[in-house]
Amino acid sequence: MTGRRCDVLVVGGGPGGSTAAALLAQKDFSVLVVERESFPRFHIGESLLPANVPLLDRLGVHDALRKAGPLVKYGATFYDQESDHEHTFYFMRGRSVPNYGYQVQRAEFDSILLEHARSSGAEVLQPATAERPTFDDDGVTVTLDEAGARSEVRARFLVDASGRDGFLASSIGRRERVPNLGKVALFAHHRGATRAAGIDEGNIRIFIFPDGWFWWIPFAGDVTSVGCVLHAKTVRGRDGAIDALYEGMIARVPRVAEGLHAATRVTPVHRAANFAYVNRPIVGDRFVSIGDAVAFVDPIFSAGVYIAMQSAELAVPAIARALRTNRFATKRFRDYERDLAFGIRPFFQFIERYYEPAFLEIFLRPRSFLGMLDAVTGVLAGAAFHRMPWRMRVSLNVFFTIARINYWVRRLQGRPVESRLEW
Ligand SMILES: Cc1cc2nc3c(=O)[nH]c(=O)nc-3n(C[C@H](O)[C@H](O)[C@H](O)COP(=O)(O)OP(=O)(O)OC[C@H]3O[C@@H](n4cnc5c(N)ncnc54)[C@H](O)[C@@H]3O)c2cc1C
Repeated sequence: MTGRRCDVLVVGGGPGGSTAAALLAQKDFSVLVVERESFPRFHIGESLLPANVPLLDRLGVHDALRKAGPLVKYGATFYDQESDHEHTFYFMRGRSVPNYGYQVQRAEFDSILLEHARSSGAEVLQPATAERPTFDDDGVTVTLDEAGARSEVRARFLVDASGRDGFLASSIGRRERVPNLGKVALFAHHRGATRAAGIDEGNIRIFIFPDGWFWWIPFAGDVTSVGCVLHAKTVRGRDGAIDALYEGMIARVPRVAEGLHAATRVTPVHRAANFAYVNRPIVGDRFVSIGDAVAFVDPIFSAGVYIAMQSAELAVPAIARALRTNRFATKRFRDYERDLAFGIRPFFQFIERYYEPAFLEIFLRPRSFLGMLDAVTGVLAGAAFHRMPWRMRVSLNVFFTIARINYWVRRLQGRPVESRLEW
């Protein structure tokens, strides 16, 4: 076995890993990224939040992405088929984050980010799989598998950016599944789907129906990502081909079926199942986990890529301090763990409630009253990650209280209140 040495080994070259690698390399640490797949490769997670835009600037990769010409997203349109309620949340100007995000094909986006890490000074080994981490007092040793050729790498620190694989959780930690969420998602790309006019062209569209919900994410050019997240009870006992299930679900949602009427599917139907979990531990002596390697719950608010990149940026100062002082005790990374938990809480709060009909009814008819619309749109844009101003907190509390009152009103009226989380 040959041996490589580096300050930081980053396992995974997705958005989280590339961000961590670029930022650490920019601070002159020696960084090795190990990525299992050859890029470009298909990946899910294509709609970026406005909060991602300044992060791309801070990372120094925004120009490269702009050159690729991603479709600009000014809003998110939610439509509930049963109630026929629809609302578009337009991201607002003059806030801590811009009034737009992007829709990106991950094959291209991830390649741009990884290339940026490389040009920032990180070494990238690809395709190569990291296996069997062994930690000791002085560092960590990991086995690398490059098409069957095995070698070892020795690092002072490890960043787990392996996404849903959970490199550390599956080797030295554990994964807790989040019951009821993360059921089954089926998705594909289509050419020739209908487009909205003007600034609405780039909106993400969410279509809610009794079996779950669809996303509709248009890209620059003529390709659109269409996927559904299905309740367990819809999928239970259906072992047939996933193509037929996907087509069957499209047929149940007339707005999606009409939009795809003249379109051709240009990728296979992909499937993701049981994708809601929380991994432990998140930090330890000589390691941190970032992005999906920490947790993933539900894609409804398109926050995954932002959280992956933002968690990387949050972790880097603590990693840099540890490398400079040669002190790697777990407690040095606790602030990162706490800040990350604070940042993702607002998304989790919305996701938990989103499957309740009483909440959905209020969510789809938001009022400008007491800053509620601003507060909800701010959370959807990712603006509440670092700091939640007290006005926003109060407005959200009012919003959740009204949704709670609506629960009791609906109960008294004999209308459905059961959360679809349980379905
Ligand atoms: C159905 C669905 C829809 C989604 N939609 C959205 C959306 O619209 N917007 C959004 O922002 N997010 C969305 N997400 C979430 C998004 O996909 C993730 O949050 C995001 O990709 C996380 O980035 P990451 O860098 O942490 O992990 P990943 O992007 O998964 O990258 C991890 C990388 O690690 C590599 N790897 C894994 N194990 C090893 C190993 N042992 N050795 C070497 N390499 C390894 C993998 O090959 C991979 O390239 C969605 C998720 C799902 C399930």
